[in-house]
Amino acid sequence: MKLKTKKSKAGISGNWRKEVERVLITEEQLARRVKILAGEIERDFRGRETVVVSLLSGTVMFLADLIRHLNLPLRLDFIGVSSYGAGTESGELVFTKELRLDVRGRDVLLVDDILDTGKTMSRVLPKLRALKPRRIKVCVLLDKPSHRVEKIRADYVGFAVPDFFVVGYGLDFAERYRNLPFVGILYPHIYKEACKIVCKK
Ligand code: 5GP
Ligand code: MG
Repeated sequence: MKLKTKKSKAGISGNWRKEVERVLITEEQLARRVKILAGEIERDFRGRETVVVSLLSGTVMFLADLIRHLNLPLRLDFIGVSSYGAGTESGELVFTKELRLDVRGRDVLLVDDILDTGKTMSRVLPKLRALKPRRIKVCVLLDKPSHRVEKIRADYVGFAVPDFFVVGYGLDFAERYRNLPFVGILYPHIYKEACKIVCKK
């Protein structure tokens, strides 16, 4: 879905106004789109036994909303993958939690928060394929196609977003802002200040 971005502070509660410069996707837009995505997935998966594999931790809100609309016999598991980069740049990828469920011969729906360079997916997908699922479909809430380095595409995309570092609805900056109910952009000075602290470590 194409985004019409509003330069609006509406919907930003008092506590966040000093930090959030702009709401990119409102709570209502998220709710509407997630329901539509779930409908598409449900139709494609045709009631088949499904394993939803979600990447920690940015998917929390999206995943919770998506699966409650998915009328499929599904099991849920997580892969922990962390990028130990400073600030808003992705660094070296480290697996922090391995998959526990057996996906052999199963339909797998791989869920992530945002597809950016594609480096995360290009590490996770071969790992999953090696477990011999029947098929893997990739679902991401956000897609930042302008930043892609790896040749990866998602089967289901919530919204295509411009090349900003976004936060909220599960997505963090330095582990904060995951609890914002919308997707937004922080003021540049917030990114810079936090980066000074993180980069010094
Ligand atoms: P990729 O490996 O495709 O470059 O990035 C995927 C991961 O990087 C995402 O799962 C997410 O954790 C993080 N990421 C990439 N772009 C953004 C962004 O704009 N905001 C936030 N909060 N995380 C991002
Ligand atoms: Mg992530």
